[in-house]
Amino acid sequence: MSVRELVVLGTSSAVPTRHRNHNGYLLRWDGEGFLFDPGEGTQRQMVHAGVGSHDLTWICVTHFHGDHCLGVPGVIQRIARDRVDHQVQAAYPAAGEHYWRRLRHATSFGDTAVIVRRPVSGDLVEWPAGPVTLTARPLSHPIESYGYRLDEPAGRRMLPEELARRGVHGPMVGELQRRGSLTLPDGSTVTLAECSAPRPGQSAAFVMDTRLCDGVFALADGVDLLVIESTFLSAEAELAVAYGHLTAAQAGRVAAECGVRRLVLTHFSERYSFEDEPRFVAEVRETYAGDVIVARDLMRIPVPKRDIAPKWAP
Ligand SMILES: [Zn+2]
Ligand SMILES: [Zn+2]
Repeated sequence: MSVRELVVLGTSSAVPTRHRNHNGYLLRWDGEGFLFDPGEGTQRQMVHAGVGSHDLTWICVTHFHGDHCLGVPGVIQRIARDRVDHQVQAAYPAAGEHYWRRLRHATSFGDTAVIVRRPVSGDLVEWPAGPVTLTARPLSHPIESYGYRLDEPAGRRMLPEELARRGVHGPMVGELQRRGSLTLPDGSTVTLAECSAPRPGQSAAFVMDTRLCDGVFALADGVDLLVIESTFLSAEAELAVAYGHLTAAQAGRVAAECGVRRLVLTHFSERYSFEDEPRFVAEVRETYAGDVIVARDLMRIPVPKRDIAPKWAP
């Protein structure tokens, strides 16, 4: 059974708090597992969340501030210790190669050969990643930072009642899908278009430390699930600009302008407590009427199902 869900491992920005671990997010997508920004403590959060090293196929680091990568050594050493035997791709900003090398080889351990480096540079990078295309685009932060996006290609959904009406059944269905048309025993022709409907691909985006910039909007455009930093509330808008972060109001604006279906806020400054969560939602609601979730550690958030009509559209 295909699983498409976000497992939240940590939700705090610069420092962990009593209630929030450093960043960390596992996006499970069919057989793939994209681990975004493993901050300190990610390995243990994975244990709490019931996900293991064997679930990982990609490690995607947005940038080399500690809250986004101090968990890399533990996760990689766990992959080695558990003898994970499939490749695990590791994407990170190429400008931080020296940080990557230090984290990758932080201590003595029985190394693994399954980690494949995918350094990111330039304005747009794309990789095939199982059932999706993984894209990286630059963000705007004091050090080089990249956001990521997953896109499933569009397909077609077979319509059982149309197939039945035309007498198409069994192996004929597969042949129709492969060839696009089929000649029936009575000599008539049936086409794939008559018996199916377009099925838009699903998508998700992961936007961490950044000011508002073109990359944010390009990554978030029309996605089913947007995971985005909202380090601050608008009262700290000046701090947000100075440190290269977003406010909840800005995250809401992005979701509204991009027609996002489900918005997940995270990466909170330690100055806020759980009691402040309604204030984050209220800022989002100034512009965005869709589904919004203020992330907490160990939440599991499904990618919204494709067959449910958007609750909200621009
Ligand atoms: Zn951060
Ligand atoms: Zn940062």
